[in-house]
Amino acid sequence: MCNCRKELETALAEHYARKNPGISNVQIELQGYGFSIVDNTMVMIGCMPYKVQAVHPKKDGGHSEKRKTGFMHFKHCPFCGDLYLPAKTQPEAATPEPAHAG
Ligand SMILES: [Zn+2]
Repeated sequence: MCNCRKELETALAEHYARKNPGISNVQIELQGYGFSIVDNTMVMIGCMPYKVQAVHPKKDGGHSEKRKTGFMHFKHCPFCGDLYLPAKTQPEAATPEPAHAG
């Protein structure tokens, strides 16, 4: 797995410190990363949140609108293009995680 996230966080922290003379202990954490299970191991990979809105049938015959938020993990690093996952575990497309209430 590449080091893009750490390298970008370091570069951003240095840039932020240059732009703000006198500040100290700058810490940058890129957002848009989440845990995924690869070969039975939890790894942190890039992801993009999504919102879904749909009308669901109710048991009494009516309908209700529900909204949820989920995360779609990337197969490749969005910065350098390296594969996050080993070839043998590659799904056909990015696999959305189950939606979380939100
Ligand atoms: Zn990368």
